[in-house]
Order: sequence, then C-alpha cells, then structure tokens
Amino acid sequence: MTTKKTGFCSFCGRKASDVKLLIEGIGVNICDNCVEQAHEIVRDNLADSNRKKPKLDLKKPAEIKAFLDQYVIGQDEAKRVLAVAVYNHYKRIMQEVTDDDVEIEKSNMILVGETGTGKTLLAQTIAKMLNVPFAIADATVLTEAGYVGEDVENILVRLLQAADYDVAAAERGIVFIDEIDKIARKSDNPSITRDVSGEGVQQALLKLLEGSVSNVPPQGGRKHPEQKMIAVNTKNILFIAGGAFDGIDRIIAARKRANVIGYGSNAEEVLDRDNMMRYIAPADLKKFGLIPEIVGRLPILSHLNPLDKDALKRILTEPKNAIVKQFSKLFAMDNIQLDIKDEVLDFVVEKAIEFKLGARGLRSIMEAILNDAMFELPSDNKIKKFTIDRNYAEQKLNKSGLAKSSIGE
Ligand code: ADP
Repeated sequence: MTTKKTGFCSFCGRKASDVKLLIEGIGVNICDNCVEQAHEIVRDNLADSNRKKPKLDLKKPAEIKAFLDQYVIGQDEAKRVLAVAVYNHYKRIMQEVTDDDVEIEKSNMILVGETGTGKTLLAQTIAKMLNVPFAIADATVLTEAGYVGEDVENILVRLLQAADYDVAAAERGIVFIDEIDKIARKSDNPSITRDVSGEGVQQALLKLLEGSVSNVPPQGGRKHPEQKMIAVNTKNILFIAGGAFDGIDRIIAARKRANVIGYGSNAEEVLDRDNMMRYIAPADLKKFGLIPEIVGRLPILSHLNPLDKDALKRILTEPKNAIVKQFSKLFAMDNIQLDIKDEVLDFVVEKAIEFKLGARGLRSIMEAILNDAMFELPSDNKIKKFTIDRNYAEQKLNKSGLAKSSIGE
C-alpha cells in the first residue's frame, strides 16, 4: 500500500486534496477518515463478540483458597470471603451470556487490616490466578475532577492497560483500590466547607462502584476537550478496596461497649481486646468517615489479622516464593548452599516486631544480614556451604544502616 496525491476515496468519495492521506490498495483507495471509522467498527464488533464468549476458567471457592494458601500465610477468614466473592463474580459474568431474567448483583468487597498484613498480596495473588485483567489503584492520589491529582477515571486507565485496551475484557476485570481509608472524611460531621481530599473523591468513586459508563482518556492524565475517550462500563468490574483504618479499633470498641451496656450484663461477651478488628461492621466504616453510599457499595466486609511471631516466621519460609527460598536460590546460582539456622529466623522476626516493620520488614532485615556474604562469596571459589547463626546475624544487622535508622527513630 502506498499513499497518493490524486484520486478519490472509494469509501466516502472525497478527493485526495480534501483529506490528509489517501492510501492506494488494489483497484481502490481509502482516506485517513475512513480508516479510522473502519477501525472503530472492527473494534466494536470484536468487543461484542468477546463479550459473548468470555473464556473463563471457573474455579471453585475451595480451589481459589487453596491457591491463595500457597502464597499468603494465615488470614483464613479473608481468604474464604475473597474466594466466594471472586467465584460469584465469575458466575455473574457467565450468567450475562445466558438469557436469564434473574440478575445477580455485583458484590464489591472491602478488606480492613493493619498495613503489611497481606491485603495487597491477596489481591495480587488472585490476579495471578485469574484470567481477567487486574489493576491496583492507590486512593491517596485521587482527587475530585478539577483539583490537582488524578481523576478517578484513571483507575480504569490502569485496567484498560492491563487488558491491552481490550475494552470488553477490562469491563469484566478486577480493581484493587488501596488505602481507601485515606479518603475518609476528616470528621464524622458532614462539613460546611468542602473537603477536597475526602468526600468529593468518595462521591466520584461511588459512580465507578455503582456501575456506570465512564469516559476514560486512553493514556490517562487530565481530560481535555479534543481528546478521544474510551467508554468503559463498570457494571461488571469487581472492586476490592483495602485500608488500614488506623484507630478504627477504638470505634469498634466503643460500639461494642455501648451494646453491652444496652443489653445488660448477661450479654457481656469476652472480647478479644488485642484484635478488635474481628468485630468490624459497616457502621464502624461510616463512623471512620466513609460516606454511607460507599459503604453500601462495598457490601462484603472482611478483616485481616495482625501477624504474630509464628505467622511472621512462616512467611519467611513457607510461601511458594518465600524470602528464605529466594535467598537460597540466589546463593545456589553461585553454587553455594545457604544454611540459615532456625535461631536466625526467630531473630529476624523479633527485629521486625521491634522495628515495627511487620512482614514488610522481613526482607530488609534479611538483606541487611546477608549483604556482606552476597558481596564477598561470589568471588570466593572455595566456599560451597555457608551457615548463618544468630551471632553472625546480630553482628551484621547491628552494623547495618537499618538497625541504626530504626534505633534512631
Ligand atoms: P498491605 O497491603 O496489607 O499493607 P502487603 O500485602 O503489601 O500489605 O504486604 C507487604 C509484604 O509483606 C508482602 O509483599 C509480603 O511479602 C508480606 N506479607 C504480608 N502479609 C503476608 C501474609 N499474610 N503472608 C505472606 N506474606 C505476607
């Protein structure tokens, strides 16, 4: 195919001089306008046919949970709830293709738990398993349209990118919205002055959660009038929100106390004071500052437990890509067998707790301990096995920047 300066478009009849480009085929010509229109027709038709035949591999909730178990330690309750939510999401998408009158409503989900307890990991692991596009969005950067920051629609840009701009695929994807607690209203009292960071964003987000057609700028960023938009319907997109909701335990405790007083001493139950999160209810999210409409649109609520010593130790060694397995593999690539004594694992866990780093800190502490060895051993051909005991670990960690910065805090 070549371009030409004379002749007519065989499709719309315009002259070469009236169009930007005229492309010559075998016996026909086509102008740039008609190419674009044809492209849209192709895209819409393909999208329609994709919608009719979603290629979904329907996994049972128990299988979904078993998959999650390979990567995420503990958090059984959240896993079960998530497995059912995802399973129902699949079923919902499948029933769209049958001509049934009963419409199953979408059930978006909210996961509440301290930072570093596995909320994102759960969402990421689900994504690994699924045959649907998946995107993670950070609620903290979102603002209402017209303010500095990202428009809420940008969440869908990520999803579109994950779907390679296959709109039909994106429209049945899953979005994880992280740090949803950061867009909570700052006070429980709907304020007179507008709360830019909170309520307005929640309102904008509500439209996505409810299911609506959003016009999305394909490359993200701010919308501007001349830009071509892609229409994305969020009706079938499953949203999973996550947040730490710092301080919500006090709200839960206050509600539980009020209940106990209300029902008299007989109703008094033994509360697990160390983990108030397990009693979380939608009312607590509202009290924290999520608007009732948002809470209503995230009907499935589950919590993640704080990770105790035992869970942290298991995280070091058990998951499919556990940190210790990763380091062993790195050493093995230099033909060195890495032998980490059990007492070292206990030490790493103690330090992660002491530095208040939780699971997130395990890797940095291991890095700090192993860095010297990883620097020196590759140049040493004699060493075939390297054993690390608590003494060695303590000594290496103490001289590292990590220990100094954490003590300095
Ligand atoms: P959150 O989203 O709750 O703040 P993440 O899921 O990002 O926390 O967890 C941070 C890191 O800690 C993960 O990359 C993972 O290595 C580890 N981690 C946290 N919780 C778990 C868990 N339950 N099982 C295994 N690893 C975990």
